[in-house]
Amino acid sequence: SITLNDIHRDFGDFKLHMNLQAEKGELISLLGPSGCGKSTTLRIIAGFEEADSGSLFLEGKDLLSISPEKREIAMVFQDYALFPHMTVFDNIAYGPKIRKWSKEKIREEVNRFLKIVHLEGFADRKTEMLSGGEQQRVALARALITEPKLLLLDEPLSALDARLRKKLRREIRNIQRELEITTLYVTHDQEEALAISDKIALIDNGECIQFDTPQNLYRKPQHIFAAGFIGNAN
Ligand code: ATP
Ligand code: MG
Repeated sequence: SITLNDIHRDFGDFKLHMNLQAEKGELISLLGPSGCGKSTTLRIIAGFEEADSGSLFLEGKDLLSISPEKREIAMVFQDYALFPHMTVFDNIAYGPKIRKWSKEKIREEVNRFLKIVHLEGFADRKTEMLSGGEQQRVALARALITEPKLLLLDEPLSALDARLRKKLRREIRNIQRELEITTLYVTHDQEEALAISDKIALIDNGECIQFDTPQNLYRKPQHIFAAGFIGNAN
């Protein structure tokens, strides 16, 4: 599980004050309007941004005392940030190579993950030649191959068209369930959050204002903001 307790971050105009929890294997969406603090929350968890105060635990480990490389967290962003001139294989093998896995293990695992993300036969392709959806599949395989304890997805599908978004979110959900990897999924798309999540953290102005199952959030919004924000989906 991942737990954020009173994580504060003060940017002057914007103040984050986040409490959040995900059990092991759950997919939690962080849903809220632009500028509400979703990416900042993920960046603090990943260690790209510091917290001013509060505590952060991943499966019992105090993350704030661990350097970002050692947190066992993988992140996928909206703009995939793959290595464009490298092949699909080399992109996915990047983390394992740094960790000095054996050649055979790398080949086996890359092939396993190519299958998981439905990219068999793509190993030797240059990533710059791939479609957006294919690139996000590579990014996902690259994130997952080192078996992180937590997967952070920051609007991973927002650059794709609506049909592909629906297809890929279903695939992400299936992979996430199969690997039982705890996942925080940032989106500002209500429909997407309602469809994909175990629970939704509704965020407004730096705070989680309701944390609930999709059904409850939809049927029993606890705040006018929640009612309005979810209502806009229709
Ligand atoms: P979006 O949906 O547009 O991606 P978001 O919910 O991810 O929005 P954040 O990127 O977390 O929002 O930003 C929250 C607020 O914090 C914004 O007002 C942003 O300008 C501000 N902010 C983020 N990072 C910094 C920083 N390093 N210094 C100052 N302000 C920042
Ligand atoms: Mg963001």
